[in-house]
Amino acid sequence: MWYIVSIIFGAMVGSFLNVCIFRLPKEESIIWPGSHCPCCNKPIKFYDNIPLVSYILLRGKCRHCKKPISFQYPLIEGITALSSLFLFMKFGPSLSYIIYFALVAALIVITVIDLYHQIIPDVISLPGIGLGLVSSLIIPQITFLNSLIGILLGGGSLFLVATFYQWLFKKEGMGGGDVKLLAMIGAFLGWKAVFLTIFLSSLIGSIAGMMIMILKGKDFKYAIPFGPFLSLGAVIALFYQNEIISWYLQSKG
Ligand SMILES: [Zn+2]
Repeated sequence: MWYIVSIIFGAMVGSFLNVCIFRLPKEESIIWPGSHCPCCNKPIKFYDNIPLVSYILLRGKCRHCKKPISFQYPLIEGITALSSLFLFMKFGPSLSYIIYFALVAALIVITVIDLYHQIIPDVISLPGIGLGLVSSLIIPQITFLNSLIGILLGGGSLFLVATFYQWLFKKEGMGGGDVKLLAMIGAFLGWKAVFLTIFLSSLIGSIAGMMIMILKGKDFKYAIPFGPFLSLGAVIALFYQNEIISWYLQSKG
Protein backbone atom coordinates (compact mmCIF):
# COMPACT_ATOMS: atom_id res chain seq x y z
CA MET A 1 0.00 0.00 0.00
CA TRP A 2 2.72 2.50 1.03
CA TYR A 3 4.66 1.56 -2.08
CA ILE A 4 1.72 2.73 -4.21
CA VAL A 5 1.50 5.97 -2.22
CA SER A 6 5.23 6.56 -2.78
CA ILE A 7 4.77 6.03 -6.55
CA ILE A 8 1.83 8.47 -6.71
CA PHE A 9 3.72 11.01 -4.60
CA GLY A 10 6.76 10.59 -6.87
CA ALA A 11 4.69 11.10 -10.03
CA MET A 12 3.18 14.29 -8.58
CA VAL A 13 6.65 15.62 -7.70
CA GLY A 14 7.79 14.62 -11.21
CA SER A 15 5.01 16.75 -12.66
CA PHE A 16 6.36 19.71 -10.68
CA LEU A 17 9.92 18.92 -11.82
CA ASN A 18 8.72 19.24 -15.44
CA VAL A 19 7.59 22.78 -14.62
CA CYS A 20 11.02 23.53 -13.07
CA ILE A 21 12.85 22.07 -16.09
CA PHE A 22 10.77 24.17 -18.46
CA ARG A 23 10.76 27.46 -16.52
CA LEU A 24 13.99 27.71 -14.48
CA PRO A 25 16.26 28.29 -17.53
CA LYS A 26 13.90 31.11 -18.58
CA GLU A 27 13.97 32.52 -15.04
CA GLU A 28 10.17 32.35 -14.87
CA SER A 29 8.18 31.76 -11.70
CA ILE A 30 7.64 28.07 -10.98
CA ILE A 31 4.47 28.83 -8.97
CA TRP A 32 2.46 31.15 -11.20
CA PRO A 33 0.84 31.09 -13.72
CA GLY A 34 -0.53 27.53 -13.87
CA SER A 35 0.40 25.11 -16.65
CA HIS A 36 -0.28 26.15 -20.24
CA CYS A 37 -0.02 24.25 -23.51
CA PRO A 38 3.19 25.54 -25.13
CA CYS A 39 1.46 25.45 -28.57
CA CYS A 40 -1.99 27.01 -28.14
CA ASN A 41 -1.36 28.63 -24.71
CA LYS A 42 -4.67 27.32 -23.33
CA PRO A 43 -4.53 26.68 -19.57
CA ILE A 44 -4.33 22.98 -18.75
CA LYS A 45 -7.24 21.92 -16.53
CA PHE A 46 -6.44 19.95 -13.39
CA TYR A 47 -8.09 16.81 -14.82
CA ASP A 48 -5.77 17.01 -17.82
CA ASN A 49 -2.76 17.48 -15.55
CA ILE A 50 -2.75 14.17 -13.69
CA PRO A 51 0.79 12.78 -13.84
CA LEU A 52 1.22 9.86 -16.31
CA VAL A 53 -2.56 9.19 -16.42
CA SER A 54 -3.52 12.30 -18.41
CA TYR A 55 -0.83 11.68 -21.00
CA ILE A 56 -2.29 8.23 -21.67
CA LEU A 57 -5.94 9.42 -21.62
CA LEU A 58 -5.15 12.30 -24.00
CA ARG A 59 -3.04 9.90 -26.11
CA GLY A 60 -0.14 12.35 -25.89
CA LYS A 61 -2.03 15.26 -27.49
CA CYS A 62 -3.28 18.63 -26.23
CA ARG A 63 -7.08 18.55 -25.67
CA HIS A 64 -7.52 21.83 -27.56
CA CYS A 65 -5.00 22.09 -30.40
CA LYS A 66 -4.21 18.33 -30.68
CA LYS A 67 -0.50 19.08 -30.97
CA PRO A 68 1.64 16.30 -29.50
CA ILE A 69 2.73 16.71 -25.87
CA SER A 70 6.46 16.12 -25.41
CA PHE A 71 7.23 12.58 -24.27
CA GLN A 72 9.59 14.22 -21.80
CA TYR A 73 6.64 14.96 -19.47
CA PRO A 74 5.55 11.36 -18.77
CA LEU A 75 9.20 10.22 -18.92
CA ILE A 76 10.26 12.58 -16.10
CA GLU A 77 7.11 11.71 -14.13
CA GLY A 78 7.85 8.00 -14.52
CA ILE A 79 11.54 8.31 -13.54
CA THR A 80 10.64 10.45 -10.52
CA ALA A 81 7.91 8.00 -9.46
CA LEU A 82 10.35 5.07 -9.66
CA SER A 83 13.02 7.04 -7.76
CA SER A 84 10.48 7.69 -5.01
CA LEU A 85 9.58 3.99 -4.86
CA PHE A 86 13.20 2.76 -4.73
CA LEU A 87 14.14 5.34 -2.07
CA PHE A 88 11.08 4.36 -0.03
CA MET A 89 12.09 0.70 -0.28
CA LYS A 90 15.60 1.58 0.91
CA PHE A 91 14.85 4.09 3.67
CA GLY A 92 11.24 3.33 4.67
CA PRO A 93 8.82 5.97 5.96
CA SER A 94 11.45 8.32 7.36
CA LEU A 95 12.91 11.79 7.12
CA SER A 96 15.85 10.23 5.27
CA TYR A 97 13.49 9.16 2.48
CA ILE A 98 12.17 12.72 2.10
CA ILE A 99 15.64 14.28 2.15
CA TYR A 100 17.22 11.85 -0.31
CA PHE A 101 14.16 12.14 -2.55
CA ALA A 102 14.73 15.91 -2.56
CA LEU A 103 18.34 15.24 -3.62
CA VAL A 104 17.33 12.89 -6.45
CA ALA A 105 14.61 15.31 -7.60
CA ALA A 106 17.23 18.10 -7.76
CA LEU A 107 19.58 15.81 -9.71
CA ILE A 108 16.82 14.98 -12.23
CA VAL A 109 16.11 18.67 -12.88
CA ILE A 110 19.84 19.47 -13.12
CA THR A 111 20.42 16.59 -15.55
CA VAL A 112 17.72 17.64 -18.01
CA ILE A 113 18.53 21.37 -17.85
CA ASP A 114 22.26 20.64 -18.31
CA LEU A 115 21.49 18.41 -21.33
CA TYR A 116 19.41 21.14 -23.01
CA HIS A 117 21.21 24.32 -21.97
CA GLN A 118 24.68 23.29 -20.71
CA ILE A 119 24.04 25.11 -17.45
CA ILE A 120 23.48 23.97 -13.88
CA PRO A 121 21.25 26.55 -12.19
CA ASP A 122 22.68 28.04 -8.97
CA VAL A 123 19.10 28.31 -7.67
CA ILE A 124 19.18 24.52 -7.27
CA SER A 125 22.80 23.74 -6.35
CA LEU A 126 23.46 26.52 -3.81
CA PRO A 127 20.34 25.97 -1.65
CA GLY A 128 21.03 22.25 -2.13
CA ILE A 129 24.42 22.62 -0.41
CA GLY A 130 22.70 24.34 2.53
CA LEU A 131 19.90 21.77 2.71
CA GLY A 132 22.37 18.88 2.61
CA LEU A 133 24.43 20.36 5.45
CA VAL A 134 21.37 21.10 7.62
CA SER A 135 19.84 17.68 7.01
CA SER A 136 23.07 16.00 8.17
CA LEU A 137 22.06 17.22 11.65
CA ILE A 138 18.74 15.35 11.58
CA ILE A 139 19.24 12.11 9.65
CA PRO A 140 21.29 9.15 10.93
CA GLN A 141 23.00 8.31 7.61
CA ILE A 142 25.57 11.13 7.74
CA THR A 143 27.33 13.30 10.34
CA PHE A 144 27.66 17.08 10.15
CA LEU A 145 31.45 16.79 9.82
CA ASN A 146 31.18 14.26 7.02
CA SER A 147 28.78 16.57 5.17
CA LEU A 148 31.10 19.56 5.68
CA ILE A 149 34.15 17.66 4.41
CA GLY A 150 32.00 16.43 1.52
CA ILE A 151 31.23 20.03 0.51
CA LEU A 152 34.87 21.10 0.66
CA LEU A 153 36.13 17.99 -1.09
CA GLY A 154 33.39 18.11 -3.72
CA GLY A 155 34.11 21.73 -4.53
CA GLY A 156 37.88 21.35 -4.39
CA SER A 157 38.50 18.00 -6.01
CA LEU A 158 36.62 18.75 -9.19
CA PHE A 159 39.68 20.69 -10.22
CA LEU A 160 41.44 17.33 -10.56
CA VAL A 161 38.61 15.85 -12.60
CA ALA A 162 38.62 18.90 -14.85
CA THR A 163 42.32 18.33 -15.50
CA PHE A 164 41.71 14.64 -16.23
CA TYR A 165 38.83 15.45 -18.58
CA GLN A 166 40.93 18.00 -20.42
CA TRP A 167 43.72 15.46 -20.77
CA LEU A 168 41.33 12.78 -22.06
CA PHE A 169 39.26 14.86 -24.48
CA LYS A 170 41.78 17.64 -25.16
CA LYS A 171 39.18 20.25 -24.40
CA GLU A 172 37.57 22.11 -21.56
CA GLY A 173 34.56 20.20 -20.30
CA MET A 174 33.91 21.51 -16.81
CA GLY A 175 32.12 24.60 -15.63
CA GLY A 176 31.67 26.27 -12.28
CA GLY A 177 28.20 24.68 -12.20
CA ASP A 178 29.77 21.23 -11.97
CA VAL A 179 31.86 22.33 -8.96
CA LYS A 180 28.76 23.54 -7.09
CA LEU A 181 26.87 20.38 -8.08
CA LEU A 182 29.58 18.13 -6.66
CA ALA A 183 29.70 20.25 -3.49
CA MET A 184 25.93 19.68 -3.18
CA ILE A 185 26.39 15.93 -3.67
CA GLY A 186 29.10 16.00 -0.97
CA ALA A 187 26.77 17.86 1.38
CA PHE A 188 24.09 15.15 1.11
CA LEU A 189 26.22 12.03 0.80
CA GLY A 190 29.56 12.78 2.49
CA TRP A 191 33.18 12.68 1.40
CA LYS A 192 33.45 8.98 0.49
CA ALA A 193 30.53 9.37 -1.90
CA VAL A 194 32.32 12.34 -3.49
CA PHE A 195 35.26 10.09 -4.43
CA LEU A 196 32.89 7.39 -5.63
CA THR A 197 30.81 9.89 -7.65
CA ILE A 198 33.93 11.29 -9.34
CA PHE A 199 35.13 7.78 -10.16
CA LEU A 200 31.77 6.55 -11.48
CA SER A 201 30.93 9.70 -13.44
CA SER A 202 34.39 9.83 -15.05
CA LEU A 203 34.10 6.17 -15.98
CA ILE A 204 30.56 6.43 -17.39
CA GLY A 205 31.35 9.80 -18.99
CA SER A 206 34.48 8.45 -20.67
CA ILE A 207 32.63 5.45 -22.08
CA ALA A 208 29.76 7.65 -23.28
CA GLY A 209 32.22 10.16 -24.75
CA MET A 210 34.09 7.46 -26.66
CA MET A 211 30.84 5.95 -27.94
CA ILE A 212 29.70 9.35 -29.19
CA MET A 213 33.09 9.89 -30.86
CA ILE A 214 32.83 6.50 -32.57
CA LEU A 215 29.25 7.14 -33.68
CA LYS A 216 29.65 10.78 -34.69
CA GLY A 217 33.29 10.78 -35.83
CA LYS A 218 36.43 12.04 -34.13
CA ASP A 219 35.82 15.65 -35.08
CA PHE A 220 32.63 15.80 -33.10
CA LYS A 221 32.98 19.10 -31.28
CA TYR A 222 29.83 19.22 -29.19
CA ALA A 223 30.83 19.62 -25.54
CA ILE A 224 29.15 16.85 -23.57
CA PRO A 225 27.76 18.31 -20.34
CA PHE A 226 29.18 16.59 -17.28
CA GLY A 227 26.30 17.32 -14.89
CA PRO A 228 24.23 14.30 -16.00
CA PHE A 229 27.18 11.95 -15.34
CA LEU A 230 27.84 13.49 -11.92
CA SER A 231 24.14 13.09 -11.14
CA LEU A 232 24.08 9.47 -12.27
CA GLY A 233 27.26 8.72 -10.30
CA ALA A 234 25.72 10.34 -7.22
CA VAL A 235 22.53 8.25 -7.49
CA ILE A 236 24.59 5.05 -7.78
CA ALA A 237 26.65 6.21 -4.76
CA LEU A 238 23.44 6.97 -2.83
CA PHE A 239 22.10 3.44 -3.33
CA TYR A 240 25.23 1.32 -3.39
CA GLN A 241 28.15 3.19 -1.80
CA ASN A 242 28.47 0.79 1.15
CA GLU A 243 28.34 -2.26 -1.12
CA ILE A 244 30.84 -0.80 -3.61
CA ILE A 245 33.27 0.37 -0.93
CA SER A 246 33.23 -2.92 1.00
CA TRP A 247 33.59 -4.85 -2.26
CA TYR A 248 36.57 -2.67 -3.15
CA LEU A 249 38.21 -3.15 0.26
CA GLN A 250 37.62 -6.93 0.10
CA SER A 251 39.12 -7.24 -3.36
CA LYS A 252 42.18 -5.43 -1.98
CA GLY A 253 42.45 -8.25 0.59
ZN1 LIG B 1 -2.55 23.08 -27.18
